[in-house]
Amino acid sequence: MKVLVINCGSSSLKYQLIDMATEESLAQGLVERIGIEGSVLTQKVEGREKYIVKEAMKDHKDAIRLVLEALVDKTNGVISSMEEINAVGHRVVHGGEKYNKSVVINDEVKSYIEECFKLAPLHNPANMIGIKACEELMQNTPMVAVFDTAFHGTMPEEAYLYALPYELYEKHGIRKYGFHGTSHKYVSQKVAEVMGKDIKDLKIITCHLGNGSSVCAVKNGESVETSMGFTPLEGLAMGTRSGNIDPAIVTFLMKEEGLTADEVTDLLNKKSGVLGISGISSDFRDIEDAAYKEKVHRAQLALDIFHYKVRTTIGAYAAAMGGVDAIVFTAGVGENGPETREEILKGLEFLGVKCDTEANKVRGKVREISTTDSTVKAFIIPTNEELMIARDTLELISK
Ligand code: AMP
Repeated sequence: MKVLVINCGSSSLKYQLIDMATEESLAQGLVERIGIEGSVLTQKVEGREKYIVKEAMKDHKDAIRLVLEALVDKTNGVISSMEEINAVGHRVVHGGEKYNKSVVINDEVKSYIEECFKLAPLHNPANMIGIKACEELMQNTPMVAVFDTAFHGTMPEEAYLYALPYELYEKHGIRKYGFHGTSHKYVSQKVAEVMGKDIKDLKIITCHLGNGSSVCAVKNGESVETSMGFTPLEGLAMGTRSGNIDPAIVTFLMKEEGLTADEVTDLLNKKSGVLGISGISSDFRDIEDAAYKEKVHRAQLALDIFHYKVRTTIGAYAAAMGGVDAIVFTAGVGENGPETREEILKGLEFLGVKCDTEANKVRGKVREISTTDSTVKAFIIPTNEELMIARDTLELISK
């Protein structure tokens, strides 16, 4: 059984072909600049040189056609024909309130994904283009949608409702949905496995810290609270996103700075976060260099604010679950930033967790990083959203 995982953006597309017998990635690739001059496909296969195809791609259908050609290519491919692909798993960002599980794609599913365009205007339309392009090119292959919001469908009402007039929830679906669900689900299941415990007996706090960041409280295997909300802007300070602020700042800026609604949205999404504070970069490597090597105050401040928000969110989520057994770090910064992990854990000793500085000196590997006397354990668990999508896809098409 081989599953092709597709993650489609507006002008780019990531893919991975996974052999489900071994859960091994056979090939992974990225197509960039779809519909723009300079389109390029880059495919990586373990132990081989990168395979690069520079060819004009006017749309996503062209891009997916080239992905299929790259996968079956005689010298650079990994399968001999397209028929070897048993199913396609699509990452879809927003599944609204209806889909709290992955589903086999049919007309009803597609029209609901379209209904959710207004909730995820940047992502769902691109995901849909990918689905339609695959359907045209692989007419007999079953397709599954795996939603970023789905894992959080188990949050209780008191966690997902905002204290706004209830009618706005009924009319517009204004509520917390949460994102990064596939990642939070994968790392929470994996940490239970690493701990040799049943996830149903665990309270886990997962910290997905990357360019976009969110924290999730996973109680007995279910998401009960998460930091991203109606949109991925809520919660922690991120690369360029503000995270939580006093909502009154929005109208203050419109009045005092004369900004339009779109300009405020742009400021909060693209010019804030650690970029806004540091004035240097949204990339943690640049900010850490400036803070630790050059001792730039605003770079240090950006990191301090980021650590503080994650630390206080962990504290809040321990309260939400009435305790915590394990804290997990994942994604770009969570997996690769020892300083970030240590600074976040500093100050959480009262919970029973202490960072083991030596064990923590590692990047991108499954590792316990708490001291042996810690009653709450901390781990690095590299995320694997593609594998999670492929597992859901296989499970659904096998039914
Ligand atoms: P993601 O969105 O999960 O791809 O994460 C991207 C973020 O991870 C960027 O801010 C990177 O700077 C950060 N990152 C990647 N590698 C490292 C590293 N070695 N040390 C610190 N941060 C890193």
